[in-house]
Amino acid sequence: MNDPGRVPTDGSWETVVGLETHVQLQTRSKMFCACSADYAGAEPNTHTCPVCLGLPGALPVPNAAAVALAARTALALGGTVHARTWFERKNYHYPDLAKGYQISQYEAPLCTGGGLDLDGEPARRVRLERLHLEEDTGKLIHVEGGALVDFNRSGVPLVEIVTRPDLRSGEDARAYLEALRQLLRWIGASTANMEDGALRVDVNVSVRPRGAAELGTKVEVKNLNSFAAVRAAIDHEADRLAGILAAGGVVVHETRGWDEAARRTVPQRSKESAEDYRYFPEPDLPPLVVDAAWLEARRAELPELPAARRARLASGAGLGPDAARLVTRDRATADYVESAIAARPGAALAIADWIVGPLFGLANAEGHDAHAMAARVPPGELAALVALVEGGALGRAAAKDVLARMYIDAAPAAEVVAREGLGRVDDDALGAAVREVLASQTRAVADYRAGKGAALGFLLGAVMRATRGQADPAAARAALEAALAADD
Ligand code: ZN
Ligand code: MN
Repeated sequence: MNDPGRVPTDGSWETVVGLETHVQLQTRSKMFCACSADYAGAEPNTHTCPVCLGLPGALPVPNAAAVALAARTALALGGTVHARTWFERKNYHYPDLAKGYQISQYEAPLCTGGGLDLDGEPARRVRLERLHLEEDTGKLIHVEGGALVDFNRSGVPLVEIVTRPDLRSGEDARAYLEALRQLLRWIGASTANMEDGALRVDVNVSVRPRGAAELGTKVEVKNLNSFAAVRAAIDHEADRLAGILAAGGVVVHETRGWDEAARRTVPQRSKESAEDYRYFPEPDLPPLVVDAAWLEARRAELPELPAARRARLASGAGLGPDAARLVTRDRATADYVESAIAARPGAALAIADWIVGPLFGLANAEGHDAHAMAARVPPGELAALVALVEGGALGRAAAKDVLARMYIDAAPAAEVVAREGLGRVDDDALGAAVREVLASQTRAVADYRAGKGAALGFLLGAVMRATRGQADPAAARAALEAALAADD
């Protein structure tokens, strides 16, 4: 009953999506041993020891930093961190799984509840089911005629974050992942780089008749390596399932993969159930006990979170919701904006405009690294540039050129203005430009004298061009009108 090719588009089906996201925690060492977790670019199997190779008799020791980062993540998501949980063995066989089981949490996850708002809208809240700690597996490297295994990643700490089935489309999933990635980076829990595997997403998709309360049979799609792939796989799978149901077919509970080239999901295997994993408490580890004072200390470590900061900048600083959302894309950018505003508190809105417009344009062209942006144009210098514009010393067009120069040369605003001669033209230079325009644009001058008012705009444009946009438009207009009247 696969791909019957009849996709109902009348909106009579509702898509229901839940996400399971694995996040690599940014710790120095692995989850249960002292091996370095920073294995990027390392020779295969050089970050290993008896514990993460699963050798007999090796004993795991939990990494306190990983537990702290997991708790920080749980608190930032508004979840409930439980005082007493434990680790369990999830048993299955795969060549990248050294011990034949993964140490995870099942019955008692570290955290339950919490949620994230899509696009910052509380009405579009996605509730979380759970967040638990576990260890990563190794990695298979497929080569001609077989596969090799690299255990450098084996035992690296992960949190798995599971949503409730609150998402309704591929776009919802993209928005959720954006919000999650922003938060994880914001609190320093993870690089959350999908291309490095630090953020890995499995999606559960089902469809049901619109208005139905019961969930349909779900299909899991794995191996999605970009937000775009997540979105496309969900939308494709929802269409496929609706097609099956509309044709009177039955959806099979299975795991599918995403074929990026063919832009469709493909069957992988029928789904294991929890029983297949024969979970049982890890006998080599004591229960994970979270002390209330320790947890409060983790809460106190949290920075102001994106949603709160967005709200404060939107209304408190008067930036409005759109600019506030743009400048809180990451913590370093938000810090930059706040420093620039602090340097010139009266001009918050103008400063935000210059940042989200011209400055982001320059920074985005180079991948938007907020730290690099701040190093080239320190917040105080951006404020100084805005002051020159607001004080009338610099026209907007000239100021854009100055900013581009500041960005390229990492030079102060005043220095660029002086060096490039980009400040406002003085009265003599303006008068010379007006005389030159009147002498060369005889036709427009004649039109103006014949009563065609529009010719004045044309002449004004010529004066502005002649001064490379550095004339104050009002002063240029006054000078032009005075010269035309005098020559009359
Ligand atoms: Zn190790
Ligand atoms: Mn997992």
